[in-house]
Amino acid sequence: MRRFLYRMVSFLMWDLLRGMALTLRYMFQPRVTLDYPYEKGALSSRFRGEHALRRYPSGEERCIACKLCEAVCPAQAITIEAEEQKDGSRRTTRYDIDMTKCIYCGLCEESCPVDAIVEGPHFEYATETREELIYDKQRLLDNGDRWEQQIEQRLKQEARYR
Ligand code: SF4
Ligand code: SF4
Repeated sequence: MRRFLYRMVSFLMWDLLRGMALTLRYMFQPRVTLDYPYEKGALSSRFRGEHALRRYPSGEERCIACKLCEAVCPAQAITIEAEEQKDGSRRTTRYDIDMTKCIYCGLCEESCPVDAIVEGPHFEYATETREELIYDKQRLLDNGDRWEQQIEQRLKQEARYR
């Protein structure tokens, strides 16, 4: 008897019909997928993307070359060289991040006393060569200038948890 039932189910293509009914049911329900890259989902305020070095509204670099970020980085991805300026302030002469080593832990951002190095909202920076992922100071400053508005908004949202 059981064998006969199995044969009938197979003969009537019952499984196929059930599968098609399921497909038909979902065709009329709201779409849950996004048509990336034309559509993009919302980013969490805790998202850790491409790094950026920030400036004050006056244009002055925030970084005071304390090297805390370099010391805390578990991947040893940050390289900093610094010199005293004519006005007596300390500024970096070199600030490199090897993005191929970075594990996006966010410790550099957490350790910075002046919110200079941050992880911004940008995540579409895939490259074809390794060299393009060695970021120098100018590139990081450019990132900061480009994403400052979003970064500032995110830091304000997260301020009470830091
Ligand atoms: S996110 Fe982490 S691994 Fe990447 S540079 Fe900062 S401290 Fe280093
Ligand atoms: S980015 Fe911040 S933690 Fe790193 S050297 Fe500059 S001031 Fe210090």
